[in-house]
Amino acid sequence: MDVLIVGAGLAGLTAAKALTRAGEQVTVVEARDRVGGRTLTQTVGSTSIDLGAQWIGPTQERMHALCEALGIETFPTFHHGAKILDLDGKLGHYSGNTPSLHPLALIELEVLLRRMEGQISRLSQGFNEPGLDVLTMGEWVRQRTRTQSVRRVVTAAVRVVLGSDPDTVSALHFLSYARAAGGIRPLIEIEDGAQQDRLVGGAQQLCERLAEGLDVRLSQPVRHIDQSGERVVVTTDGGQHTADRIIVAISPVLAGRIRYSPELPASRDQLCQRMPMGATTKLIALYDRPFWREASLSGEVVADGRPFTVVFDNTTPDGTAALVGFIVGEPARRFTALPVHQQRTEALGALTRWFGPDARTPVELVIKDWSEDPWTRGCPVGVCGPLTLSVHGDALTRPVDRIHWAGTETASVWTGFMEGAVRSGERAASEVLRSDPS
Ligand SMILES: Cc1cc2nc3c(=O)[nH]c(=O)nc-3n(C[C@H](O)[C@H](O)[C@H](O)COP(=O)(O)OP(=O)(O)OC[C@H]3O[C@@H](n4cnc5c(N)ncnc54)[C@H](O)[C@@H]3O)c2cc1C
Repeated sequence: MDVLIVGAGLAGLTAAKALTRAGEQVTVVEARDRVGGRTLTQTVGSTSIDLGAQWIGPTQERMHALCEALGIETFPTFHHGAKILDLDGKLGHYSGNTPSLHPLALIELEVLLRRMEGQISRLSQGFNEPGLDVLTMGEWVRQRTRTQSVRRVVTAAVRVVLGSDPDTVSALHFLSYARAAGGIRPLIEIEDGAQQDRLVGGAQQLCERLAEGLDVRLSQPVRHIDQSGERVVVTTDGGQHTADRIIVAISPVLAGRIRYSPELPASRDQLCQRMPMGATTKLIALYDRPFWREASLSGEVVADGRPFTVVFDNTTPDGTAALVGFIVGEPARRFTALPVHQQRTEALGALTRWFGPDARTPVELVIKDWSEDPWTRGCPVGVCGPLTLSVHGDALTRPVDRIHWAGTETASVWTGFMEGAVRSGERAASEVLRSDPS
């Protein structure tokens, strides 16, 4: 079979590798002039920094296997020392995983987390939970809490995980997303969680290495997929390709911008219309030394979005000291509307408040707004508001004639992460291999 794959991110390249190994003729067409999609590693001075995905967790089996197969080493995220919680203007320090909240708030938070885990364990397979899908995550939390500080902590968690505010996300989507990660704690924690390890040399090299030996055509955005004839005809800015099968390995919202003949079924199109990308701006500040460690600080901050929601120590294995901050959800939309000099002032002001005057003068400051990026348009993932997943969720993976769908949004394990992207590529490739070649 001739298989054409749209998108040279982890999902598309994984599918391409699997199909090539199975003996199929595979071409990958990619809109950008590089592979990697939401992985992007940039060299600054003599070090590599990840402006997109960077962490992997211990239960992300495919990622560990891929790193091993490609000979890419990992190293642990630094997190020793005190952490900072900065909510509603109140600054507190704490250690371990128990934030510095009032004891009554802590009890409420613990009870809430247990109720979330209970709800997650009761979720049925698929998205057949209309009762949960009519609520936003914000409403779900307000119905079960009284304390503002607990609500703020949950807002920070949802913003970081989805790049979206709890009042814009359906409870079903957030809780299903957590289930796909194995629970809330694996999703948000460093140790034993999704933020445990990083890749020496950065995450984009996964895609660069996967692409070696594949037929990948760069700078060829796909504009039209025509299934009305005997073969599928795909039109890109670089010309036309024909194939027996297509794998579209891009987020639903970008898939919805391609023109299809015949038109997509209504449910698939509605899904594409209703799964906007989160808003994430990632900021990396490089310093001449990790001065926060001298003050016994871990570099970790949880805050309520002025402008950061979380910050971590991001020192590289070659010893380049760094902090990474995430500006996410509504604060990201406000922040990115500011002129660049004001963004710098605001970001460095927050880092100085937490880590002292040394934080004000980084050697280098890199800011990446993923919503500006035309071939991502937001990050880390497409997000569903109420009554999307329970109504249109099946359309995420259901093939449309000879088109199969991949991309991290379609994964049922570690949705939204690199692990999910790889798994979705494997699933789409096996669908193609099982399909009738005629
Ligand atoms: C700031 C940020 C931080 C993140 N942190 C982490 C993390 O620490 N750990 C983790 O596991 N995950 C993280 N993620 C998520 C992770 O990056 C994604 O889950 C994963 O990379 C998605 O891969 P994908 O192949 O599904 O999609 P993508 O990487 O988006 O690949 C899709 C590809 O398709 C191309 N494309 C789009 N439209 C077209 C078109 N019409 N024609 C041709 N090509 C097209 C795009 O250019 C892109 O290359 C993060 C993401 C971001 C942005």
